[in-house]
Amino acid sequence: MSNAHTPLRSAHAQATINPDNAADRRGPPRPVDMIQLLPQYSKAAGLGQVKWIASSNESTIPPSPAVQGAIVQAAARGNRYPSLFGTELVAAIAQRLNVRDQQVMVGAGSLSLLQLALLAFTGPATEVVYAWRSYEAYPMLITLTGATPVSVPLDVEHRHDCEALIRAVGPNCRALIICNPNNPTGTLLTPDEVESIVRAVPSNVLVILDEAYREFTGSHFDAIDLLPRHSNLVVMRTFSKAYGLAGIRAGYLVANSDVTHAIQRTSPPFTLSATACAGAIAAWSDEAYTQHVVDIVCKDRDRLRNKLHALGVETPTSASNFVWIPAPQNALRLEQLCVREGVAIRAFDGYGVRITAGSSEASDAVIRAVTTLRGAIGRIN
Ligand code: PMP
Repeated sequence: MSNAHTPLRSAHAQATINPDNAADRRGPPRPVDMIQLLPQYSKAAGLGQVKWIASSNESTIPPSPAVQGAIVQAAARGNRYPSLFGTELVAAIAQRLNVRDQQVMVGAGSLSLLQLALLAFTGPATEVVYAWRSYEAYPMLITLTGATPVSVPLDVEHRHDCEALIRAVGPNCRALIICNPNNPTGTLLTPDEVESIVRAVPSNVLVILDEAYREFTGSHFDAIDLLPRHSNLVVMRTFSKAYGLAGIRAGYLVANSDVTHAIQRTSPPFTLSATACAGAIAAWSDEAYTQHVVDIVCKDRDRLRNKLHALGVETPTSASNFVWIPAPQNALRLEQLCVREGVAIRAFDGYGVRITAGSSEASDAVIRAVTTLRGAIGRIN
């Protein structure tokens, strides 16, 4: 007989263990089968031995003294729990974006919010569509929820192929992820292209617009303005990049309140620490500092692209804090040469390399490595 406190059984855990089979009860605890399917995070070469780290798209500039001070002050009250769901940060974000508090949710980085959104809206027997190559966490998180990842190749210009993405949305699709600008290629969809995707998919498909790098686009388009027209859209952003808080962990999402509410219900309480909440509020309120960081990063990004171009290396226009060198044959070799020059970058074997911008010394080291490789083999792309 069921009662209200009977725990729900997980559909994908059940399939793997037969409680009547004595053999299944011996031996160590066994991870569910899905764990074997999970792709692994790749790791940059040379970490721990290089002078510069340009491999994880972090800000090269530390948080402002005011942000550091706010974090220290919050740490002094670290014996107390933070608010359940980061109420103070939610209010600050909602006010500036001119949305209601109920539309905003914060968490320990946008990656954890993405996981919760997938948990709330997808699962076994559903599909999630996304472009590839894109952020490597997508297939992992989709698999983790029990859903099936459906990847759609980027077009020849390394951009999301809008038509192909729309075509890939089948009857079991419950979510589609757009990474804009795309990591690792840096390419940007126009506001019209983004809205054309949201408009074309069935209204029961949650469109997750991952805008982790939006501050570097230089665009005045604000996807939040699409929310009144599209109740299936959720916009995700982070404090890890332009706000320089990757190590502190804070991100946010904005959607219509029904969507936000559903995602909120999947979240454990207190995931945003008091220090992260205080640091994010201080960073959010200092727009001049953020702009200063963005200006430095974009200047170095464009300088790096120009130098590469002068060496005959083609890179897609980047609207982000990194530069992508398509180099299917030479990615690992270039990564090794960069390490030798003292800089860690990120190689994706068979695709290319991604270099985080923001330090002219690190970018110059990359240029030296590219020059060496070009001298040895003639061309990079
Ligand atoms: N989305 C994209 C496209 C990213 O590149 C990253 C971080 N590399 C994230 C989300 C996750 O950021 P966070 O630190 O907020 O979890």
